Amino acid sequence: MSPGRVVVVGSFNVDHVWTCACLPRPGETLAGEYHTGPGGKGFNQATATARAGAATSFVCALGDDIGGQLARALAVADGIDLRDLRSDAPTGTAGIYVDAQGRNSIVIGPGANAALSPAFVEAQRALLAGAAAVLVQLESPGDAIAHALRIAHEAGALAVLNPAPANATVAGDLLALAAAITPNETEFSGLLARHHSEDIAADSVAGMDDARLHALCRRLLPHGSVVVTLGAAGCFVSHAASLLRGDTHPHYRVAAQRVRTIDTTGAGDAFNGALVAALATAASRPFADAVGFATRYAALSTEHAGAAASMPQRADVVARFG
Ligand code: ADP
Repeated sequence: MSPGRVVVVGSFNVDHVWTCACLPRPGETLAGEYHTGPGGKGFNQATATARAGAATSFVCALGDDIGGQLARALAVADGIDLRDLRSDAPTGTAGIYVDAQGRNSIVIGPGANAALSPAFVEAQRALLAGAAAVLVQLESPGDAIAHALRIAHEAGALAVLNPAPANATVAGDLLALAAAITPNETEFSGLLARHHSEDIAADSVAGMDDARLHALCRRLLPHGSVVVTLGAAGCFVSHAASLLRGDTHPHYRVAAQRVRTIDTTGAGDAFNGALVAALATAASRPFADAVGFATRYAALSTEHAGAAASMPQRADVVARFG
């Protein structure tokens, strides 16, 4: 096993962001402020694991174009070992409009991300099987993601599934392969509706009684750990009784760290990357310690604009919160 190494399997997108007074209606042309930067849930999380201090490999698919060059240059800058399938399709893109209230509308062009295949993941088997942890999301083809989880599961690496975005389908066997899942409220509500016909409103999750929330987590992942992220309300952790992962309680809440938030884009990715980096590099410490670090790390990411660009360095988190 490669001590502390995290392998992230997922998407890379070039984000194109327009900030406008309001979101454009059909037929309307608006002027807005534009900026571009790296994104994609996979790359955001890989940037977070690397900056949080874990040796990181990132398995993805890129186009042979300027977006692909950007990904390669950024990976070098952050010391990320990039394992990219070179696709004929253009590198993934996201068009994002943000209005004055911070609401957004997003269109994603998966491009090369759609080319990530089980065969390419299989070619990385030794890397995945030797990792301390494997972290995946759902912005890439389901069969490739499932294959990565399967290799991790079989090899005894910690397999973590961030079931995002909310509208992606999660096959039942994908959940069974994960040792831990990290849905936000919307993803949690969607998973319960799809897999257990439970009608739980996303906005009711944060205020729910802890015993009920724990019971719902147990239905979703009977043999693993569930971390439901609740935005500015922090998160809820639920473990299977037989698998406390160093914690003293099977379920508990962790409050969010209060900071000067300016942009919550990528907060979930920051949390996931930091959580898995901490679990991989300090495996003997209680799970709650990793959740605490992820909570501080994600909070600090909201003080900076952008997706991958807003991920703090481990030293910044320690300097700020100790
Ligand atoms: P997502 O971005 O996937 O919707 P969340 O919004 O639930 O994820 O955020 C993930 C984590 O980031 C939260 O559990 C919390 O620890 C932290 N976080 C999110 N928003 C804030 C905020 N406004 N202030 C401080 N921490 C935050």
